[in-house]
Amino acid sequence: MNADNPRRQFLTRLGIGALVATGAAALAACGKGGGPVACADPTGGTKAQRDALKYVDVAIDPAKKCVTCAQYVPGDGCGTCKIFNNSPVAPGGSCDSFAKKT
Ligand code: SF4
Repeated sequence: MNADNPRRQFLTRLGIGALVATGAAALAACGKGGGPVACADPTGGTKAQRDALKYVDVAIDPAKKCVTCAQYVPGDGCGTCKIFNNSPVAPGGSCDSFAKKT
């Protein structure tokens, strides 16, 4: 095989680019890259409560993030929220029941 084949070089670069993009997306999804973290209730049992309190994974007001809320319990990636039956919430998330940690 010819290593100087332009088509081969293109396909190799395309494959490396796809791997880099996939890795970056995986890191962002688990919060290791500093990006937003998506945290859902695996049981779905708090969906109605989350909807009623307008929970979002990315706080609209940066001063009202879950990580600074009294109801937040830190975790690895996602934390948990006491009022959502201790189900996962994003550190950068928020809802209408935000109460600043003192
Ligand atoms: S109560 Fe606090 S920790 Fe729970 S979802 Fe709302 S802002 Fe986040």
